[in-house]
Amino acid sequence: MIKPLVAGNWKMNGLSSSVSEINALKEKVSSNSNCDVLICPPATLIMAFSHILKETPIALGGQTCHPAEKGAHTGDISAEMIQNCGAEYVITGHSERRMDHGELDKIVKSQTEAAWRAGLKAILCVGELIGERKADLTLKVIERQLKNSIPEGATAENLIIAYEPVWAIGTGLTPTVEDVAAVHNFIRQLLSDNLGSEIGNNMRILYGGSVKPGNAKELMAASNVNGALVGGASLKAEDFAGIIAAYE
Ligand code: PEP
Repeated sequence: MIKPLVAGNWKMNGLSSSVSEINALKEKVSSNSNCDVLICPPATLIMAFSHILKETPIALGGQTCHPAEKGAHTGDISAEMIQNCGAEYVITGHSERRMDHGELDKIVKSQTEAAWRAGLKAILCVGELIGERKADLTLKVIERQLKNSIPEGATAENLIIAYEPVWAIGTGLTPTVEDVAAVHNFIRQLLSDNLGSEIGNNMRILYGGSVKPGNAKELMAASNVNGALVGGASLKAEDFAGIIAAYE
């Protein structure tokens, strides 16, 4: 039985005043929840949130990391720094990083290795563009991204896959439950074929893209969906708690 994970990606949102939202979330998430809960705030807030979330069931993560441990990389943050702030996870390969910063498969692979070097779990994102879906290339794109970005040494503990169709992110559009299941089943098979069934069958595969309290239950019930990666709806404690409630 895979324990699901509901992860919130705050992206470039949040100021010091956002501690009120995290305090509110803390009140809504109980330690006997049927899923794990994670918040990935901007790097500027990880340390502050880690003080608030100490001894709560809510874990923390970063949104990206540099492949190197330290050095002359102005503006970047290493996996070690994220871990040092109290985080346990980091997202790699988010489509916004792929598009805004050219973080393509080879870089995503080295970022994922960096996450493991620092003792973090990586949430590796894959997903097709709208043109790729229309051209019936979805599974090909997913296969290429996974083959080129999963490093040697992946386990069901150190790696989580997030399927995020790029056209569904922040748009309010979602694939049908059948389409989500088809991609997740494909990813499950690919993971089993490439990493062995013990690892492949136990690795979490999250769905991300316009998950809201109103559609979470249906999407989370799809075959091989083991949780959600949530952007916009993770910013408000009430909405995020409404998504977590899909697992009650
Ligand atoms: C995301 O950015 O990972 C995401 C899924 O965003 P949203 O939920 O806003 O579509």
